[in-house]
Amino acid sequence: MRPGAAGDPPLPVSAPDLACAGFCRDCGREHRLPADEARQHCLELMALLARHGRIDFTRPGVAEPRFSTAPLFGPDRGKMFGVLVCRRPDGSRTLLRAFSGQYGGAWEVAGWVGPLFPVPAFNAVSRDTEQRIKALGRQMEGLAKDSPRRRELAARRRALSRRLMRELHGLYTLVNFRGRSRNLARAFLAPGIPTGAGDCCAPKLLNHAARHQLVPLSLAEFYWGRENRSRTRFHSCFYPPCSSKCRPLLGFLLCGLEE
Ligand SMILES: [Zn+2]
Ligand SMILES: [Zn+2]
Repeated sequence: MRPGAAGDPPLPVSAPDLACAGFCRDCGREHRLPADEARQHCLELMALLARHGRIDFTRPGVAEPRFSTAPLFGPDRGKMFGVLVCRRPDGSRTLLRAFSGQYGGAWEVAGWVGPLFPVPAFNAVSRDTEQRIKALGRQMEGLAKDSPRRRELAARRRALSRRLMRELHGLYTLVNFRGRSRNLARAFLAPGIPTGAGDCCAPKLLNHAARHQLVPLSLAEFYWGRENRSRTRFHSCFYPPCSSKCRPLLGFLLCGLEE
């Protein structure tokens, strides 16, 4: 789009670059979901976050310190939030909300959709392996940097981390609107799955909708808090689902919606 000059009509409210979209291998084409309607609901969510200063505002009388939004404006920096407008089987509308990743160390917070994996299994797998990774680290302490023993331990630690990632990725189950289900490795279009793939708002929201017979109509995401280190995300601004972690999943997740 050319830069706006004086006298130009205002830019359309519908910003096509905000759409949630991705290429679907099964259909050989892109699937899309517009952002327009959900943007309005994002503005309402922003007002709620600003008013309450916490994300557990749906539970009156409960205010856990870890769910405060204050850390988002400090050294922790901000976070992406998303809203999905859905149609229920009876035709009525409903809204789903998501935050990216964990919030205050929690994967599940009342009023927000959960992650793509069973949390107890995820925690059990990561706890066991992380303890072994830490134990290897302790054994490495005090050994000379280029000693054969230390190198051997370091190689074992790397292999363990890789295996942990694979095991954790195997716990993610993505369901789409054609009723197909895939784990992260099979759903992800690009080679090499980046850390945090599947933990952003769009995959959480679409997956939740597909599992609960809800038909997505519109999805939008915004950033809340202090700008990120690379200065690509700013407080209360809208962004499309990210291209590195989300786009390679969105074609699969949106598949079947048009029918
Ligand atoms: Zn993302
Ligand atoms: Zn498709």
